[in-house]
Amino acid sequence: KAVLSQIEEKEDMYHCYVTVDKEGALAQAAAVQKKIDEGFESPLAGVPVAIKDNMCTEGLLTTCSSKILGNFVPTYSSEAVLNLKRAGAVILGKTNMDEFAMGSTTETSAFGATKNPWNTKHVPGGSSGGSAAAVAAKECFYALGSDTGGSIRQPASFCGVVGLKPTYGTVSRYGLIAYGSSLDQIGPLCKDVTDCATIMEVISSYDPKDSTSVKRADTDFTSALKDDVKGMRIGLPKDYFGQGLDPEVKSAVQKAAKVLKEKGALVEEFDLGLLEYAIPTYYTIASAEASSNLERFDGIKYGYRTESYEGLHNMYKKSRSEGFGPEVKRRIMLGSFVLSSGYYDAYYLKALKAKALIKKAFDEAFARYDVILGPVAPTTAPGLGESLSDPIKMYLGDIYTISINLAGLPGLSMPCGLDTRGLPIGLQLIGDCFQEKKLIQTAYAYE
Ligand code: GLN
Repeated sequence: KAVLSQIEEKEDMYHCYVTVDKEGALAQAAAVQKKIDEGFESPLAGVPVAIKDNMCTEGLLTTCSSKILGNFVPTYSSEAVLNLKRAGAVILGKTNMDEFAMGSTTETSAFGATKNPWNTKHVPGGSSGGSAAAVAAKECFYALGSDTGGSIRQPASFCGVVGLKPTYGTVSRYGLIAYGSSLDQIGPLCKDVTDCATIMEVISSYDPKDSTSVKRADTDFTSALKDDVKGMRIGLPKDYFGQGLDPEVKSAVQKAAKVLKEKGALVEEFDLGLLEYAIPTYYTIASAEASSNLERFDGIKYGYRTESYEGLHNMYKKSRSEGFGPEVKRRIMLGSFVLSSGYYDAYYLKALKAKALIKKAFDEAFARYDVILGPVAPTTAPGLGESLSDPIKMYLGDIYTISINLAGLPGLSMPCGLDTRGLPIGLQLIGDCFQEKKLIQTAYAYE
């Protein structure tokens, strides 16, 4: 009830949600209370959560913030949502996002932009901007987001909350509407590192319904909540502190590294390399996968269908032309181009080779370091409207987050200060595959 009244009070100002399920949330809460009275125990029992609107929720509108799914009510729930429900979570509603998770500001949503609760003239980041803003505005206790190239970590950073993109395969993608399937991963956005570890324990699971799901025996993430980084080897990639990084962000992140050093971590600079290839590689692969994944939205099986048409092909064409927004169309065109015969070898195949090299560079780094530390984004939250006119500039803002998805690694974003305008600055901790616990331990010690 407290969180619903907060939504009532603040939602007009911030627009974090696409759908608020007030009646449903109250009914779920009453049902969980009954179970608790009968002895049910879980750290998340009765705690209200917001879900990014690209995760299917049975009986509840799931739009991907797109007109093409504007009327889509799934008949099943995603596995991550089911894991939360089994733990007694109360689903409050669905949060706003960039259309199909394509964007870095939540402004490509077909339902209007979300505002940053720290300063409503600024974006909350994206694509999970609704989830991050809802946590920052206390319109939920925690939220789920998805991260294909930074979409959990970057909005967490812009909104001053904690976000974790787990190792690829840790959280089931079943029921997550696909953007770049080889990169997509669900994770928490929350107030602090303790919440992050607690939520991760609940949402991580092996799921045969997701063919890339991994069986892990080490998902006792809360065991890593230790205020101790003595001997932790932390590497600072010089390339992450070079040209293009805002000086205020740089100094806040360097200060955070110093705090960890004072606590006993071994902090050292090193050359990671290949950073210049991250953006072209990511946008080639992500767009290629998106163009294929979005073929299913054809106006037939579900979602939006154009009102008048002549014949099947015209119906496809009009439904897709009217249903998708400009950023999504740009990616579909780019993706179709790089996959087309004659260009496949020159672009898509080359991007896959670059991806393998990026992974190798991280493998070599993790032979020497437990954790890599750097900024989440080159700047703090841009002003509303600044990014929409210049997509390339927006893509450049993903420079520090996208390699982590290409390599399948876990990455954690947490607050490390404010800039002179009072906007949050984010710190990113990157780990080797399956080393979330080292990230959680380092983050907890810093926090
Ligand atoms: N900004 C990136 C993109 O537009 C990342 C988005 C994401 O992680 N979903 O692709």
